[in-house]
Amino acid sequence: MDIKRAIIDLAPASIVRLFAGPYVAGKGLESGVRKADEIWQAGKLQSTVDLLGEEVFKREDVEATVALYFRMVDALAGRTYTSMSLKPTQLGIHESEAYCLENIRKVVGYAASRQLHVTVDMEDRHFTDVTLRLFKALRDQFDNVGTVLQSRLFRTKDDILALHARRCKVRICIGIYKEPREVAYVDKPAMKERLFEYVQLLLDKGHYPEIATHDEPLIRRVIDDLDKRGCPKDAYEFQMLLGVPRHQIQEEIVRDGRVMRLYVPFAEEWEYAIAYCKRRMAANPMMGAYVMKNLFRS
Ligand SMILES: Cc1cc2nc3c(=O)[nH]c(=O)nc-3n(C[C@H](O)[C@H](O)[C@H](O)COP(=O)(O)OP(=O)(O)OC[C@H]3O[C@@H](n4cnc5c(N)ncnc54)[C@H](O)[C@@H]3O)c2cc1C
Repeated sequence: MDIKRAIIDLAPASIVRLFAGPYVAGKGLESGVRKADEIWQAGKLQSTVDLLGEEVFKREDVEATVALYFRMVDALAGRTYTSMSLKPTQLGIHESEAYCLENIRKVVGYAASRQLHVTVDMEDRHFTDVTLRLFKALRDQFDNVGTVLQSRLFRTKDDILALHARRCKVRICIGIYKEPREVAYVDKPAMKERLFEYVQLLLDKGHYPEIATHDEPLIRRVIDDLDKRGCPKDAYEFQMLLGVPRHQIQEEIVRDGRVMRLYVPFAEEWEYAIAYCKRRMAANPMMGAYVMKNLFRS
């Protein structure tokens, strides 16, 4: 185990919980739904609700997770301002690709019957190929499914060009996982420049980019570019994480008639939220610094 991970593992739960606080809707599905309602009523912010607790290994736990996703579909159905996000590592990928596909297919199929969109999140580079295979198999069958691409990976341009021929909703972000320089950009400006380019490439290829970043200058540059090109405002959307304070620009985006969606994670148990945050902090040690920086913003 590397030293950074060992230190993060030793961090007391109370401290991690303090760090996690602003980013997590709370405990239980109801808290996720409540938060989705709150942000919609307060500022017309849409949401993608996410269950924390990836890396499920035991079959019985995978099945319990599938059941919970069914409850999530029931809870969110009819709320046109919501969608949901899920991860292959929660849904059986550790057993086999076929088993995972069967599970995600059940969830996406049920969500389709209730007109709810589902995003298959992207995890680290070891899961990129399998996630894209799962996504394409699902997209063959369903319209209500999208996925995520990470602009830090060198492969992403090829992945965009190889997307499903049908229109896809694709969240384009820099990617939270630190990846080695053999496969990924390691400097942020390059990741952001690629993100900017991939928004246009996705649009050119007929897809619907979901632009997930908190970088205000980058967001303004994207908006400026899309407006200059006459791109319709309903051809894309912006996404941010719950808890990152970007109220002013979020308001502006909504006021201008564009879609602004927040990622709203909830946990069944706080221990899952804490484990998730520890993994995120290990994957990206900047997270702690971000929290401190954000505490002192507006
Ligand atoms: C809706 C959404 C879904 C995402 N889904 C995925 C996914 O499926 N797979 C994946 O690999 N990554 C995902 N990400 C994470 C994303 O890839 C980035 O790691 C993250 O958004 C930070 O990149 P940035 O573009 O905001 O730029 P940065 O330069 O990293 O951040 C700009 C500023 O935003 C603030 N900030 C950014 N991130 C955080 C944070 N976590 N906590 C507190 N403040 C922060 C800080 O003030 C920072 O200075 C998602 C992000 C969003 C918004």
